[in-house]
Amino acid sequence: MRIDIATLFPEICEAYLGQSIVGRARNKGIFELYCHQIRDYAFDKHRRVDDTPYSERQGMLLMAEPIWQCYKAVVGKRSPRVVYMSPRGRVLNQQMLKEMAEAGEDLFILCGHYEGVDQRVLDKMGAEEISIGDYVLTGGELPAMILADGVVRLLDGTLSQADCFMDESHYSGLLEYPQYTKPQIWEGIAVPEILTSGHHSNILKWRREKSLEQTYLNRPDLLKNAPLTDADKAYLSELQAKNEDMQEYLENMKKLY
Ligand code: SAH
Repeated sequence: MRIDIATLFPEICEAYLGQSIVGRARNKGIFELYCHQIRDYAFDKHRRVDDTPYSERQGMLLMAEPIWQCYKAVVGKRSPRVVYMSPRGRVLNQQMLKEMAEAGEDLFILCGHYEGVDQRVLDKMGAEEISIGDYVLTGGELPAMILADGVVRLLDGTLSQADCFMDESHYSGLLEYPQYTKPQIWEGIAVPEILTSGHHSNILKWRREKSLEQTYLNRPDLLKNAPLTDADKAYLSELQAKNEDMQEYLENMKKLY
């Protein structure tokens, strides 16, 4: 897979995506990354890339032409998937990352800045818009790195064990159970006994129940689409009942004091 990022700050993207797990994957040739300075494609002598919007709004927009020149030079005869990082876009999730990693299609990622980008170049490149969440940042660099990091992590060979991410948060539709490492007792707190019991099926059951619990507490909305077994549903009903008991208890306490 080849990833191209068009940005006003290529050094930032290079620095992050050259480090650690993603950097090693790049060195191993699992993916190729090129970060392009949009300013290098500006047509005037001041290398200007922005101008005021026609909508009489405050702020500046990235002009169409430098981005278009950059896109044409980078893409050539290839036809990568073109993504504009934008708070207007479809919100990124693990399923989208998985689809992108499996498709293995090249990506051309555009980072906006200031108030955004002239719509005409987005239309001309056939850009799809992807958001990283319902909030607004100053530039598309962090979002682009998030997208690239999330996809690269799922490519074959990036993580040492292919199944590392299988039971991670969001992969199976649930959040991850708590994890523990050595030492067995830290600050007087022991890891849950079951994890040192060596009893494989009990451990699996414990993990599943803890995943359900985390999801129920932090992201109950995810339970709607998570694939749940009858045992899962029974466990969730237990949690629900406990929760209702607790609510009732709290209500009673409030009445008393
Ligand atoms: N005026 C725009 C926001 C511009 S923010 C609007 O209201 O939609 C400047 C740039 O930061 C954007 O062009 C985009 O590339 C990036 N950006 C900001 N927030 C983002 C988000 N939540 N997801 C993806 N990109 C974002």
